[in-house]
Amino acid sequence: MEKEWLQFDRFKDEYRVGARMFVDKARADYGNSEDEIICPCIKCRNSEHHHFEIVYEHLVTRGMDPTYKIWICHGETGSESNHEDLEIPETYKLFKDLCFQHDENDEDDEDVDDTIETREAEILNLVREAETPLFFGCTNYTKMSASVALLKMKARHYLTDIAFDDILRTSRSFLPEDNTLPESLYSMKKLVKAFDLGYEKIHACVNDCCLFRKDLQHLENCPKCGASRWKLNESSSKIQKGIPAKVLRYFPIIPRLRRMFAITETAEQLRWHSNNKSQDGKMRHPVDALAWETINRRWPSFASDPRNIRFGLATDGFNPFHDLRSTYSCWPVILTIYNLSPWLCMSKESLMLTLLIPGPKQPGNDIDVYLAPLVWKDNLFPPTYPPSPYPIPPF
Ligand SMILES: [Zn+2]
Ligand SMILES: [Zn+2]
Repeated sequence: MEKEWLQFDRFKDEYRVGARMFVDKARADYGNSEDEIICPCIKCRNSEHHHFEIVYEHLVTRGMDPTYKIWICHGETGSESNHEDLEIPETYKLFKDLCFQHDENDEDDEDVDDTIETREAEILNLVREAETPLFFGCTNYTKMSASVALLKMKARHYLTDIAFDDILRTSRSFLPEDNTLPESLYSMKKLVKAFDLGYEKIHACVNDCCLFRKDLQHLENCPKCGASRWKLNESSSKIQKGIPAKVLRYFPIIPRLRRMFAITETAEQLRWHSNNKSQDGKMRHPVDALAWETINRRWPSFASDPRNIRFGLATDGFNPFHDLRSTYSCWPVILTIYNLSPWLCMSKESLMLTLLIPGPKQPGNDIDVYLAPLVWKDNLFPPTYPPSPYPIPPF
């Protein structure tokens, strides 16, 4: 699509002609019966529909949202553009898909589930909030990207919560008054958690016998070895009730899978394995392996739907404290989705950190205890989901 006009000042004819062409094209391709189109101006940010003349007015008086690089809400596809492709925020794709899902469902309106609609509205609001520029006119950072950048820095430099809050306060005073940077670590974490990027803490027996979840969630001592669930004070040997001795961090998989299926492009990528089996006998992907075939034979109903997810699981110990405590090892458990193409399934973005098994020593065979939250029948089909028509593979 023609984008040259955006480089001109808004009072110039070149800009106005470009904006007029943009609006006319959007109206012809996507206008509804009332001649309304999605407005990409800096204030509406593709979250509101307006009459095309109003959209034109917004483009001239307010200007186009500078973070809207690829006009996916106005018919541009990723393939039309060049390297900028990589910069499409996933939230926009999600946003677009949610809008279009809604349009497709219009004909059977009475069947539309209220809760789904409410959830969609919530997601749209969240996306809108997260993608607000850091301050009016800021093109480099949004509220979310600034928060994530700062949280990464906190982790990299081992900043304490108090120090971080202090830095946040000072940073806010450097920014214009209308800035959207969260005020505290607490509100920043709340923002990130709203996208289900948070984790659950599950208490574990200090000797790796069990997790205090489900039937055991109210116990104070391990049913196997009797060890207290709570930390012992090293000097007085007293139990510090409320402070867990060991905590497993679990990053839920389902919200991430839901997000993947909500985005048309990733939902398609999840079926890559079904059409790309090697034809020349050479192995390029696990789909070409004997093990894959064996699984297909043993669980044909599972194999019959290419959308069913095939996970690979990998784990290794690492020391988060560097030289400060050389004997400590904590075990991240990473899932890879083998449904994806070889270049995607090993990409950084597709690897899913799902468990952080605490140290200080490696879990060894007790790792099974920690993998329990990943077991299929517990998690993959929560009660709100339609029950799977397939039998659960006996892992
Ligand atoms: Zn607008
Ligand atoms: Zn125990």
